[in-house]
Amino acid sequence: MSYLRDNIADMAGYVPGFQPPDENQWIKLNTNENPYPPSPQVIQAIRAATGDDLRKYPDAPSRSGREAAAAVYDYPIDWVIMANGSDELLNNLIRACVGEGEEVAYLHPSYSYYATLAAIQGARIKTFALLENGEIKGFPERYAGKLFFLTNPNAPLGLRWGIEEVAALADRCEGLLVVDEAYADFAEGNCLELVRQKPNVVVTRTLSKSYSLAGMRLGLAIARPEIVAALDKIRDHYNLDRLAQTAVAAALIDQSYFKDCVQRICATREWFCSEIKTLGYQVIPSSANYLFATPPDRDGKRVYEALFERKILVRYFRDPVLSHGLRISIGTREEMETTLQALSEIG
Ligand SMILES: *Cc1c(COP(=O)(O)O)cnc(C)c1O
Repeated sequence: MSYLRDNIADMAGYVPGFQPPDENQWIKLNTNENPYPPSPQVIQAIRAATGDDLRKYPDAPSRSGREAAAAVYDYPIDWVIMANGSDELLNNLIRACVGEGEEVAYLHPSYSYYATLAAIQGARIKTFALLENGEIKGFPERYAGKLFFLTNPNAPLGLRWGIEEVAALADRCEGLLVVDEAYADFAEGNCLELVRQKPNVVVTRTLSKSYSLAGMRLGLAIARPEIVAALDKIRDHYNLDRLAQTAVAAALIDQSYFKDCVQRICATREWFCSEIKTLGYQVIPSSANYLFATPPDRDGKRVYEALFERKILVRYFRDPVLSHGLRISIGTREEMETTLQALSEIG
């Protein structure tokens, strides 16, 4: 006899990208972290917050973070919610909208954590195949599922859909369309404006990648006030700790540092993309801080292992639709030069 619900007993559990214990010995290009440090203003603000005040609970609604996000994204404050990583929002959106046995959809390939969250909820999962040219297979004229996650730009392929295409998808969804914009800061455009225009669109963002704060666990969503209010009922009431609240406000306010880091990463991405092609790799044009690259022999595992031996970590997916290639995060120019050199030796 098991004390567990069947769906929990049966599920596999999500496996995050490998974080080696000796992380500073590696060139770490496997979890799309930012190679640059957080803004000096963030570090300074966190230092100033690590005192006596830690004995007190944090501000339950994270008002300073909401205010900073409302200003940056040009939305009223009641259209913004903060989260302990955007993963928390993906989870709570399912809990808010999808009952047991009801349907959640996403593209395959995209972020596989959606499947884990749906399984915990006891929801049914529907996937639509995504081709490497961006075509979505078999998406119906009317999609009746309760929630559809669109990772835009797509992870791990890096391609993206423009706002008109996403608006058209929203019109075909009877349920909520959650646009997971974890990487939108590295792209030419985004879908934030759709939240105002379409009643069923929610946009999620994270500070993990573009703001160099993966270690702080900070995410947010822009959604209609009634959805924000529902998500507020579901979340842990103290979901952001004091240091996280301090960090998020400081990070969002320092837009010039943020823009500078993003611009450097995008420039390195374009340079790396053209260089790796000269080694015979096929690369999908990327709007994110990683590239999906396929070696000439289409054996992603071989190249992954050869890089691993050289203490360079990239992401290899066993999934048959991805196993021919590798997802390589964009590090500093120097890290990418070392990686290219290794790839040319590996052949
Ligand atoms: C990294 C990532 C997230 C999670 O972001 P956190 O804020 O670190 O929880 C969500 N969606 C996608 C597609 C991601 O790559």
